[in-house]
Amino acid sequence: MTRSMTTLPSLSDQTWPVLEPGWVWLCGAGPGDPGLLTLHALNALQQADVIVYDALVGDGILNWAPQAEHIYAGKRGGRPSAKQRDISLTLVQLARKGKRVLRLKGGDPFVFGRGGEEAQTLVQHNVPIRIIPGISAGIGGLAYAGIPVTHRDVNQAVTFVTGHDQTGAAPTSLDWGSIARSSQMIVIYMGMKHLPKITSQLIEAGRSADEPVAVVTTATTDQQRVLETTLSNVVKDAGAADLAPPAIICIGRGVLLRQALDWQAIAAGLAPRNTDPLGRGRPAESA
Ligand code: SAH
Repeated sequence: MTRSMTTLPSLSDQTWPVLEPGWVWLCGAGPGDPGLLTLHALNALQQADVIVYDALVGDGILNWAPQAEHIYAGKRGGRPSAKQRDISLTLVQLARKGKRVLRLKGGDPFVFGRGGEEAQTLVQHNVPIRIIPGISAGIGGLAYAGIPVTHRDVNQAVTFVTGHDQTGAAPTSLDWGSIARSSQMIVIYMGMKHLPKITSQLIEAGRSADEPVAVVTTATTDQQRVLETTLSNVVKDAGAADLAPPAIICIGRGVLLRQALDWQAIAAGLAPRNTDPLGRGRPAESA
């Protein structure tokens, strides 16, 4: 991906919050590209004594905190939460030792990231916290694939769902039938494992087998891959393409917009495949 060689304004032109000893800042690191960190995240990286980070924190981001101890707290595959409790209690202990603690999570800490649970435990232990939102993979990752998560001609709502519950099973609390009927755009996190079940439930509930689907893996990184397919073919095609997690799955006509808006391909010199993918036959802004 092209990266320009300009410089940014100095952060010292503004005042920034101070990460005090004994505090924990729960912070999103965005989906991967370090450029998608917030300035609050960068400010936190520069002040932390210790950073407790997850598997999905983008490569290179920790290099901006050479002064800090880096503790890996990654988990894979939606396994149960025994370890989750350990992570929360580690944060409490570090804070009680008077450390400036940065809890760094991929994407946004409150979007399918257990950030809410960690924050609750910290509050219960009277540890002061700050929450720093991040760009979630289900929005930023799709944007890097050229898929707007909303578009006036396609969807007035979007549903973010997880393909796993706490035990790693397909979530039973989700009513896929109602999601199928009511959501014009469905964005699924952690959906690869149970994709056969999810897609068949959506089709049974009336979604068209031909509905466009995109799978975006390692979104926003140099390894980003995008599969464009349909609801009935996604399982087969994702297997054939040997896609590796993490993956965001997006179901809805908005996926077609990538034919026009694959901005990384355009930046690399390719022409858009189709400048009118929704078939409106008029300029996009003429309404
Ligand atoms: N808090 C994170 C989500 C954590 S759950 C956020 O807001 O983005 C982990 C899931 O997020 C992964 O299984 C995958 O579905 C998605 N994900 C996170 N980073 C991703 C990336 N770079 N590319 C594709 N999917 C990603």
